[in-house]
Amino acid sequence: MGIRIYNTLTQRKEPFEPVNPGRVGMYVCGPTVYKPSHIGHAVGPIIFDTVKRWLTHQGYAVTWVVNITDVDDKLIVEAKAQGCPVDELAERVTKNYLVALDQLGVRGIDHMPKASEHIAEIIDMCQRLIAKNAAYVSHGDVYFDVSSCRDYLKLSHRKVDDQQAGTRQLAGGEKRNPGDFALWKAAKPDEPPEVQFDSPWGKGRPGWHIECSAMSSKYLGQPFDIHGGGEDLIFPHHDNEIAQSEVCFDRPFAKYWMHNGLTRFNTKKVSKSDPEMAKLMQQLVLSHLLTKYPAELLRFVVLSTHYRRPIEFSDEEIAAKKKGLDSFYRLFERIERVTGSDPYAGGATLDNLFAPVTVRVETFQKLIAEHAARFAEAMDDDFNTGGAIGVLFEIVPAINRFLDEQQLEAGGNVELKPVAAAAVQSLRSMTGLLGLFEKRPPAETSMADTMVDSLMDVLIRVRAEARKAKQYTLSDMVRDQLGSLGIVLEDRPGGTIWRRS
Ligand SMILES: [Zn+2]
Repeated sequence: MGIRIYNTLTQRKEPFEPVNPGRVGMYVCGPTVYKPSHIGHAVGPIIFDTVKRWLTHQGYAVTWVVNITDVDDKLIVEAKAQGCPVDELAERVTKNYLVALDQLGVRGIDHMPKASEHIAEIIDMCQRLIAKNAAYVSHGDVYFDVSSCRDYLKLSHRKVDDQQAGTRQLAGGEKRNPGDFALWKAAKPDEPPEVQFDSPWGKGRPGWHIECSAMSSKYLGQPFDIHGGGEDLIFPHHDNEIAQSEVCFDRPFAKYWMHNGLTRFNTKKVSKSDPEMAKLMQQLVLSHLLTKYPAELLRFVVLSTHYRRPIEFSDEEIAAKKKGLDSFYRLFERIERVTGSDPYAGGATLDNLFAPVTVRVETFQKLIAEHAARFAEAMDDDFNTGGAIGVLFEIVPAINRFLDEQQLEAGGNVELKPVAAAAVQSLRSMTGLLGLFEKRPPAETSMADTMVDSLMDVLIRVRAEARKAKQYTLSDMVRDQLGSLGIVLEDRPGGTIWRRS
């Protein structure tokens, strides 16, 4: 059936047909680098890295661009608070972000343009828009005139009136329409020199929306194929990108708009108005999460949910997903023990999975092939990684069953070992397309950790039984002795969990 993508612009799933046959240009809005990146900044890259892997597997040559917003009000405020130059702050945050993305297996980004290095392209777009009377200068600011765009707000499907009613006039600037937005902002006297760029309208800096329009068209041309980002960017950011780009170049901007769901923590939607924002953000900081959990587990949590749905990051949710991940590690350890083949070595492709079918194991090989086809169908269907992982969860027990039935562990049917190894290679080909199990996990997430998990389950059950029988001396002893080993038990509504203190 081929790839289908849910397009926010048309609000339906459409067959994927790139602008130029065989080639795909993909742009995803990147972070504003003023504070330590949180998990929400990694969700998009993990999803679109997987989108690129699948498109590449399906034969497309993909160019993927993620921008870095390194000129912004937030950066100016934060740099002032920290007493450092804006560019130094931006560089530090960007570097930490890139390290985290690498750990999470995000390796497909081709260009990461910075706004500060594309001022000429931004000024050029402003000048073209002014020449068309679609933008105007006001007290050193440049505004886009929203009435110049016939189908303004076509992405968010809002009414222009709704939007204008909620917009307040910017101090100092005079606008033609209340909804007009800044393409260029005049420098204010107290702003540091590193954010003051020369322009035909005096010193200033670009507005946020125009940065993405200028950088996407520079690296991908216009129109390009896929524009992605978090669903909170649909309005006003993406609506404004579309308006200024389409009016500027008289061409459609991006063909498919993909938006990922927002990050939730302990069932709360993380929004800027949340009073607990600061506390939540601290727990969601990437570098913090990456010391607490293996990167592969975080990637697995993200891809287990459909990208358009909100992604849950609670300790319980992550612990539940870890159990699923461990079933893969256990199978890989088993297959290595039985067949001597390294499951982490790549090489197999989905098209070239099996040795010639032998009658004896035909059913098993057909079963694996059918699952591979279902995996591909899920990925073709709007990159349904959650559905694809569901298929993988059916393959793991199927291979374990084959090892049991053929008694391969007990030394029986030695000639069938390559069949089992090939089935695991097939599974690995699929997980590789999700960026999972590309290398052997660090020792502590391997067998030893699985054993610790199982032993902890036993101890937690013993303590619960003791409490039920009112044997509090025993239940307290379990908790206290674990405490002396640096393990904390936490009683929660859904049961007791443990963590290292
Ligand atoms: Zn953007």
